[in-house]
Amino acid sequence: MKTIIEPFRIKSVEPIRFTTREERIKILEEAGYNTFLVRADDVLIDLLTDSGTSAMSSDQWAGIMRGDESYAGAKSFYVFEAAVKKITGDEFIIPTHQGRAAEKIIFSILGGPGKYFASNTFFDTTRANIEFTGAEAVDLLNETGKHPEQSAPFKGNMDVEALEAFIKKTGKENIPLIVLTVTNNSGGGQPVSMQNIKDVKAVCKKYDLPLFLDACRFAENAYFIKLREKGYENKSVIEICQEMFSYADGSTMSAKKDALVNIGGWLSLNDSELALKCRNLLIVTEGFPTYGGLAGRDLEAIAQGLEEIVDEHYLQYRIRSTEYLGEKMMNAGVPIIEPPGGHAIYIDAKRFLPDLSSDKYPGQSIVCELYIEGGVRAVEIGSVMFGKYDKTGKLIPAMMELVRLAIPRRVYTQSHIDYVAEVVIEAYNNRDKMKGYEITYEAPMLRHFTARFKPI
Ligand SMILES: *Cc1c(COP(=O)(O)O)cnc(C)c1O
Repeated sequence: MKTIIEPFRIKSVEPIRFTTREERIKILEEAGYNTFLVRADDVLIDLLTDSGTSAMSSDQWAGIMRGDESYAGAKSFYVFEAAVKKITGDEFIIPTHQGRAAEKIIFSILGGPGKYFASNTFFDTTRANIEFTGAEAVDLLNETGKHPEQSAPFKGNMDVEALEAFIKKTGKENIPLIVLTVTNNSGGGQPVSMQNIKDVKAVCKKYDLPLFLDACRFAENAYFIKLREKGYENKSVIEICQEMFSYADGSTMSAKKDALVNIGGWLSLNDSELALKCRNLLIVTEGFPTYGGLAGRDLEAIAQGLEEIVDEHYLQYRIRSTEYLGEKMMNAGVPIIEPPGGHAIYIDAKRFLPDLSSDKYPGQSIVCELYIEGGVRAVEIGSVMFGKYDKTGKLIPAMMELVRLAIPRRVYTQSHIDYVAEVVIEAYNNRDKMKGYEITYEAPMLRHFTARFKPI
């Protein structure tokens, strides 16, 4: 059969509340043209994020009932620990309430002024947790990854030569850790090849630096390796995951992504001294080491989610359904990052609105238009999210101006996705009428969450 079907049946449904265009214009104005500030109930199709928005399976819900809520040494912790160990192979598994909590712990311990961390591309919370300690976060993405219009199989790869040059220039004693983000969320959901992981590891080994995975979408990354990298076509996804993690000395994870749950995360590592420090900080900020900011039931749901995420029928449906949306948009001429990523389609706002310069936030303009046009909520990943100011107050734009349409796992059906494609194409056809935006309020860090805008 040619048709790839959703590999599940629907047991419980949640109604969508419909709004009119006129209502949405008013709602958006009241939200300061920031879709983060729109109520979810006022959204028809919510593609703001794939984080914590997965639909859990009946087995995960059964796990919720099995959860052992003992304060210390709960049975559910050991189920969780075994499931995480099976994938990462790491010795110390520390549960956290989400990915950034794991980041906060590891970077508080390793960071500080004068320290440097490098990644293919740091995700926004990761970068914020590094910079918050006074350390610097450096992105060393390979060249093709910086060109949305160039198609390549592994655009998430790190530039290995740049990494070595960076280590020589900075001094290895000032670099506590190298991070590979799989898949590269901020760079288009693009995968990192096994070869690149091995090459980065070789450089880390040469300079005696630990390598961590920001592992949020490890299963999607592994499936891309299976599809695209020679020598992996006959390996199982779980074997590929295990090999990926085998080159790393630890990982930070948001279970809200590839563990198919609504909350959770972990920090895994092999260094016993560092693990001790991390657990001590965990006790102050998250909770006792066998629950770490989660309920026992959450740990059960994560463990079950980790079984389901490496299912190849699931991954085939997941990767293909994202690609399906991307193809519909490309066929209509909408410029996107090619090829489509694993968890999201990224519209290239610079090519969509070539007349709007970065300081007029073209990505934000598209986000607003998609909401007004069809109640679809997307997110800007460009100069609103990553822009900075120079000393004179002039905007230093982000490398790319993108709009991300993230697909929640197992939530929307093919007709929802057809609808989204229609909305995007309609917006594209009306692009001549779209206006730029200016910021009227912003917070000092992670401004995109709470900024307010006005059309110009
Ligand atoms: C989501 C995400 C994080 C942070 O995880 P949270 O659970 O949202 O705190 C870190 N890195 C990447 C690549 C992510 O996608």
